[in-house]
Amino acid sequence: MLHEVENINDSKLSSKPLNEIRYAPNVQETLDNEIRYALNVQETLDTVPGDDKNIGEVEDSTITEVASVTLAGASATQAGEVVETSTIEYNENEYTFMPRRRARRYTSHSQDKPEHSVSEDMSDSGDTETPFGGDESNNETIADIFEDYSPPDFDPYQEEEETSIDDDFSWILLWIMNFRKKFNIPETATESLTKFMKLVLKEVSGDAFSDFPDSLYLAKKKLGLKDRFHSFVVCPTCHKLHQKKDVVEFRQGELPAIMKCQHIEFPNSTHRRMHLCQTPLSHQTRLLNSQIKNQPDLIYPFAGIRQQLSALYRRPDFESLLRHWANRRQFDRILTDIYDGQVWKTLKETRDENSLNFFRPEVADSHLGLMINVDWFQPYDGTIHSTGVIYAVVCNLPRDIRFRRENLLLLGLMPGPNEVSLHRINHYIAPIVNELESLWEGTTLNRTHEFPNGRHIRAALILTSCDIPAARKLCGHVSALVSCHRCIKQANYEDHQHNFAGMNDIDEWFIDRDSNEHRQNALAWRRCNSDAARKRAVKQTGVRWSELLRLTYFDPIRSIIVDPMHCLFLGIAKWIMKKIWIDEGILTQSDLKNIQKKMNRFQIPADLGRIPRKIDRGEGFSNFTADQWRNFFTIYATTSLWDHLPTKDREILTHFVRVCSILVSRILEIDLMEEAHERLVKIIKLIEEHYGRSKITPNLHLSLHLCDCSNDFGPLYTFWCFSFERMNGILGKA
Ligand SMILES: [Zn+2]
Ligand SMILES: [Zn+2]
Repeated sequence: MLHEVENINDSKLSSKPLNEIRYAPNVQETLDNEIRYALNVQETLDTVPGDDKNIGEVEDSTITEVASVTLAGASATQAGEVVETSTIEYNENEYTFMPRRRARRYTSHSQDKPEHSVSEDMSDSGDTETPFGGDESNNETIADIFEDYSPPDFDPYQEEEETSIDDDFSWILLWIMNFRKKFNIPETATESLTKFMKLVLKEVSGDAFSDFPDSLYLAKKKLGLKDRFHSFVVCPTCHKLHQKKDVVEFRQGELPAIMKCQHIEFPNSTHRRMHLCQTPLSHQTRLLNSQIKNQPDLIYPFAGIRQQLSALYRRPDFESLLRHWANRRQFDRILTDIYDGQVWKTLKETRDENSLNFFRPEVADSHLGLMINVDWFQPYDGTIHSTGVIYAVVCNLPRDIRFRRENLLLLGLMPGPNEVSLHRINHYIAPIVNELESLWEGTTLNRTHEFPNGRHIRAALILTSCDIPAARKLCGHVSALVSCHRCIKQANYEDHQHNFAGMNDIDEWFIDRDSNEHRQNALAWRRCNSDAARKRAVKQTGVRWSELLRLTYFDPIRSIIVDPMHCLFLGIAKWIMKKIWIDEGILTQSDLKNIQKKMNRFQIPADLGRIPRKIDRGEGFSNFTADQWRNFFTIYATTSLWDHLPTKDREILTHFVRVCSILVSRILEIDLMEEAHERLVKIIKLIEEHYGRSKITPNLHLSLHLCDCSNDFGPLYTFWCFSFERMNGILGKA
């Protein structure tokens, strides 16, 4: 339900087609980035089931059966008794929080995949070992073995020297690579195009172009585009990462064989062998020369943060851009950027409260603040295949270039076709956290533009900016339907649905959650030795383990911002208009016709983005993007709606229009921010009073935390998802 409210039209936010993206002066670097995206989006897409037949390979489904051998050892000997690992998903919508004592019983839940309707009883059998909620401090040592999310060891890429492109034809190759990305052209077609180009050039200019590459491989080599991504093979069931080489080259005796996943979800269970995953990690294809090849089923392309930072640091202007924040003007009680937020101002260098601030002018260009975004986009029209993408942004950079493509770090592409569920996202996050840990300790880059002999840098993850479902998954919070992640408010369960009503006792619950308690609860979840125990833990505390908690400085409560784009515009604006005013009959069909007429008379500057016409027909506002909702409420709403609303709704409208215009501004006065907060409280009270408790959605509740977020990270526009969504739109179309 939350998704319905929040995620509609995300894909429509990408307003600029690819060819309108401005290029930086450093064309080489930009194109380099473009190609990096192109190559790697392609690799993920290449592993889509049913889309994996390469020329030169003949699919032979029978080989799989013949050559599929299980690994020697444990699993084979007890093949008869191996219990399939359950992939049943826990449906959070059906849970409410209950007091600890009652928590041993849990209700049955829906199953996404009936074919796996296995063994709840079996996984439950581990319960007696270390029941959740016991004396946890005593269990610290005995339950020290947890599910291992760590990636296999891999060679981090060495820093690469930039290539200079000074011959006569590199621009042609760059153009081809760009063309390939823009129109999503398969490798084979690009190869043909390159060959054809060589023929043409030879015909026209003879020997001048004899070095022109005649294969894609040589073209990439010529351009110095070594693939900077490390590819892990992903287990389709448990999402454990595996070394690609190990899977591809796996053999039993002489023959290539299919490797099976050896991940154990509950190593602390006495039935640990029953929890062995055993999912095949590849399928086999027969090449034209009759050789059998292991083809991995899912690939996770991953690129290191350090490696990408090191490339950025070699740019001529990068270090001076990082320093800009230390020289900016500051004003009293006015927030202009993330540097005015409490987090930037107060994060300490070490765990010692008396240590220096991590962000301070002397280290303005060597102590970096990173923001992470995780989102899912749909690379194919007409299917629900979704690919997850993880970015990082360097907050030290000025706001106007912070989100530019050439400055974004693309960390990984999580393979589809479905979004990874719940805690399994930890497998993808783990290699990133490994890097963040070492970046927090500090690392030395071999060479930067200003320091040719090397430079020591540090970096900290200071916030995650995602839509609410993604943010919660990333940081280990339970669904926004059942409880708030920032305060101790829990949803009411009334008439078979959740609501966040209860504004009269706001003082009782509008209290920040304690991040230490969150960590304790996450550890307790991690100690659970069965699926059932984990579910009980989640039901009691609303918390799962997140790999991000390994970062000792990371605050799992404050660092998850409430994204204003999803909360205010796709959430509340739409909710008030559709579910309250239209569904409750406040605005009738004829009202909507008149509203449309009034809106048509508006003359607005062309660059403001038009509101779709026809709000009076069919689904009306359904297809508004977040941008359009923002424009609707900040520009059109008061004039066009006023005459059609009764007093109480005019009040709601007035408050909401004011809230939007305050919160979208780039310079935020703290006094105005407080005004916005008070108005949000009033809006929720009015809706609760006039339209009932069931109308108080998670988004309405979360809006109460927007001002906390601004206090921590500055004006909303410094961290909102608009910036990332545009990028996703581009990837989606790539
Ligand atoms: Zn597995
Ligand atoms: Zn809250």
